[in-house]
Amino acid sequence: MKEIHSRLPDIGTSIFAVMSKMAQEQGAINLSQGFPDFKVSEKLIELVHQQMKDGHNQYAPMPGVPSLRQTIASVILQSYGHKVNPETDITITAGGTEAIFATITGLVSPGDEVILFDPSYDCYDPAIRLNGGIPVPINILPPDFTIDWDQVKSKITSRTRMIMINTPQNPSGAVLKEEDLKTLEGIVNDHGILVLSDEVYERIIFDQLVHQSVMRFPGLAANSIAVFSFGKTFHATGWKVGYTVASPAITNEIRKAHQFITFSVNTPIQLALAEYMKEPAHYLELSKFYQQKRDFFLDQIKGSSFEPMACHGSYFQLLSYKGVSSKSEVEMAEWLTKEHKLASIPVSVFYKDKTDNQLLRFCFAKGEDTLAEAGKILNRF
Ligand code: GLN
Repeated sequence: MKEIHSRLPDIGTSIFAVMSKMAQEQGAINLSQGFPDFKVSEKLIELVHQQMKDGHNQYAPMPGVPSLRQTIASVILQSYGHKVNPETDITITAGGTEAIFATITGLVSPGDEVILFDPSYDCYDPAIRLNGGIPVPINILPPDFTIDWDQVKSKITSRTRMIMINTPQNPSGAVLKEEDLKTLEGIVNDHGILVLSDEVYERIIFDQLVHQSVMRFPGLAANSIAVFSFGKTFHATGWKVGYTVASPAITNEIRKAHQFITFSVNTPIQLALAEYMKEPAHYLELSKFYQQKRDFFLDQIKGSSFEPMACHGSYFQLLSYKGVSSKSEVEMAEWLTKEHKLASIPVSVFYKDKTDNQLLRFCFAKGEDTLAEAGKILNRF
């Protein structure tokens, strides 16, 4: 057989699949792949069940069920003070990952440059390259993972089409500040660049900080695609439902791609979410809930030489093991999983140039028993 020509020759299986599999094979505590081990609310499950029993089991409209888009529009207005039209500005997608892929497919042409910040979530770079775009990574570094906007300006060329941001950031747990967004707003207005803003952890932000959505800044909202996810907010990552919010002209291009990637997202869950999301308590409590988790986890590892980086949002805690071992991150993650039965994610895989800061990412979206067990293991060092 003739050799198959790979579009992504350098890409193997995603680190999340690799580490979750290793955790399972090794009988290790799995703090690698990010997913909550909490139950989805009974009420939400009942709502889905009812929709199915009521016969809502055929294709949803391509952009999403109208009632869900209406609820989302009112939540965006309440949360970020930005008025969007549910008809023309919101598209329901099969999770944040499809939202990102459909956005890039719809808007990035071959040869277009896309600026992104490494460590970046693993689907960004391949989504750009599969569409013929050119990723332009800028490294952001511990301990704070702040963006140097002058460096960003120096990377802009006539081919720069898009800048991708992610706040709260996965894997670092860093959050962007108002000044960051204002600076970005200025850059975008000067250069006519689109912003793809991955905000899937919008409801998981700590220490009294405020989530700086692009939707809060008129000059950004007009040129941005904001991506959100129900999986993170309602403990249902396996349902794979997310959405994009963007101006009508931008949304039009996203939908051209979305309609040929998935066409539409499952109907009963959308209808159920439309009801469930109407109650603000269902999402406004989440920051407090996860801040307690973060603090509980940090408390467990107080005596350990694993040193925490600041985590202001998301459900990921980075720990430096500089005082523990000189292994590379990939070796260390494998060693901890195999020898100590605790799985995590090496951060170097999220850097194009494999920058190794001796950091591992631990997901704290777990019950206290699990976090305490993990803490015991980390306290061996
Ligand atoms: N978002 C999850 C994480 O960061 C992983 C999702 C996936 O496995 N693709 O761990």
